[in-house]
Formats: sequence, structure tokens, C-alpha cells
Amino acid sequence: MVATNEAGDNVCTGICVIPGFDIAAAPCRQSSLADCTAHAEMVLVRETQARGGPAAAQGATVYASGEPCAMCAAALFRADVSRVVYAASQAEMTRIMGGPTLPIAARAVLAGASRAVRVDGPWLEAEAAAVLQVAAARTRSGELRGRLALAWPQDR
Ligand SMILES: [Zn+2]
Repeated sequence: MVATNEAGDNVCTGICVIPGFDIAAAPCRQSSLADCTAHAEMVLVRETQARGGPAAAQGATVYASGEPCAMCAAALFRADVSRVVYAASQAEMTRIMGGPTLPIAARAVLAGASRAVRVDGPWLEAEAAAVLQVAAARTRSGELRGRLALAWPQDR
């Protein structure tokens, strides 16, 4: 799988580390797929399960550039992910990238889950914000179209 930024997708990325050391990465693809649910974490869950079946992400740790929203947190829970680590908080992501937000994000959604999912973050928030600010500006200007590419390790 190779994903590019042809349609001006946001720069958010999710990386899934699955027990046994399989690693998958997915970018946000809302614009390129014309799908408002194609946040990086949602794409990550869909592509991981498409490749490895419904239990593919069981016990995995997902690293996200930004705090997963409520929709993505629910998807990660349903995919049986054990841990979520994020860089920028939802508040910081909203400040940088704008867009609509829900009043709760990953930590609050998963706090009452029937199966524990550890949530850690924000980590390196200032550094993540700096990267996201530059990338968001370049994405808005069209400068990054076609320049971002992620691939599954086995496709390289
Ligand atoms: Zn989301």
C-alpha cells in the first residue's frame, strides 16, 4: 500500500505496532477518498484488518500524530488495540488544523471501556505542533500534494 497526498489530505498519521513486530502506517485520507471518516486511525484499522483479518490489531500499540477523536478511539477499541500513544492533544490539533471537533477525545472515550485501553499523551507536543503547523500550511497551499508517501514495510 502506498498512499500519497494527491488530494490535499491532512498530514495526520497513525502507526500501528502489532505484537510480533509487524508495523503498519496510514495517513489521513479524507480528501483523497472523499470520505469524512477516513482519519488516519480509521484507515489504519481498515487496512490492517483487510490484510490480517479482524484480529490483526489485537494487542497492538497505535502511535498517532494527534489525539484520536471519539470516532477513531471507538474504532481502535473495536479493533482490540491495547494502547494508544499520541503526540499533539486534540486542542492543539484543532488550533493548528481547525475543523469541527467533538467535546471528547480518546482518553475520555476509552476511560470507561469494558476492556482497558491505555492512553498516553500528549508526548512531545511542542515538537509535534511545530511539524504539524508547517505541514498543515504546506498542505493548504498545495505544496505537499504528491509528496507524502507511506508504504507498508513489506512493500518497500
Ligand atoms: Zn479521528
